[in-house]
Amino acid sequence: MTVTSDSPEVAVVRLRRARRALITSHASPDGDAIGSELALAELLEHLGVAPEIVNRDPAPSYLGQLPGVDRIRVAPRVTDEELDRFDLVVTVECPGLNRPGLDRLDRRPILNIDHHLANPGYGEVNYLDEHSPAAGEMVWKMFGAAGVVPSPAAATNAFVALSTDTGDFRFTNATGRAFRAAAEMVDAGASPAQVSSWVHESRSASSVRLLGEALKTLTLGRNGELATMAVDPEAYRRAGALPQDSEDLVTVPRSIAGVRAVALLKQWQPGVVRVSLRSKGDLDVRSVASAYGGGGHTNAAGCTVHGDLGAVRADLTRRLDALLEETT
Ligand code: AMP
Ligand code: MN
Repeated sequence: MTVTSDSPEVAVVRLRRARRALITSHASPDGDAIGSELALAELLEHLGVAPEIVNRDPAPSYLGQLPGVDRIRVAPRVTDEELDRFDLVVTVECPGLNRPGLDRLDRRPILNIDHHLANPGYGEVNYLDEHSPAAGEMVWKMFGAAGVVPSPAAATNAFVALSTDTGDFRFTNATGRAFRAAAEMVDAGASPAQVSSWVHESRSASSVRLLGEALKTLTLGRNGELATMAVDPEAYRRAGALPQDSEDLVTVPRSIAGVRAVALLKQWQPGVVRVSLRSKGDLDVRSVASAYGGGGHTNAAGCTVHGDLGAVRADLTRRLDALLEETT
């Protein structure tokens, strides 16, 4: 029988029955993914469950100072044998079981923790709350439900999750609920100044060089409402950058006055284009991401498209133009 609820209790009850749990999140993890995983690992230890965090991709450099980040194992796959050593898989921030980029996770019972719209509830237990500002806030509520006092490290990791997913409490998900959770995290030892210096003043030099490469490709369309940018393998090479160096480039075109939608196309391997979409206001870029088999939120969505970078950019521009046209 599967259980689906927006209550943290269901997740805690399921965790208490586990002994060894594999925690994972989506490929190309962001602050909410990494922060939630690390806070969750601490909660599991308090509950007597041995956690191991496995991600397909490394944390971006701006998250490299989070407490406990070294405990995350980065691996392109988990073997059946390894999986069978766990009695539970916990996915955080994954609206589909394909999001971690690790195969066969469903060999084991799954606890699915997510705040995305349209998570189908693929777990044995699904703790889903689309009104939550960040998965890290949902994990934070689990501490309360379990009666576990979070350490300053857990509060810090949860705060990283919440502050990055709300764009430093500026996006539409910066609700009263987000601020209430933030206040609790700060009271429990999270330092906003420290987190801000990690997240905003600890970039790799190559990610800043890559921004320069990306900006050379910036194109504004539809009277300045649509911004697109692309980084190809040559751009990564010139900047000396890695895929994780492109995670937050998309925020820059979004800052331009009049821009309502942004597409950043990232091609690291030939023929595979990762697309990040951002928008302002009611403009729903998730609908465009979904058309390519991706997902996300109204104002932040993404997808992976197979094809040539130029062709994908043209096709995406057409679809975004149409969306902007519909909602003028
Ligand atoms: P990103 O642009 O990678 O920061 O992703 C923005 C949002 O879109 C996040 O909420 C992601 O979970 C979601 N997203 C990104 N790529 C995909 C994908 N291939 N499939 C489903 N959702 C995605
Ligand atoms: Mn999130």
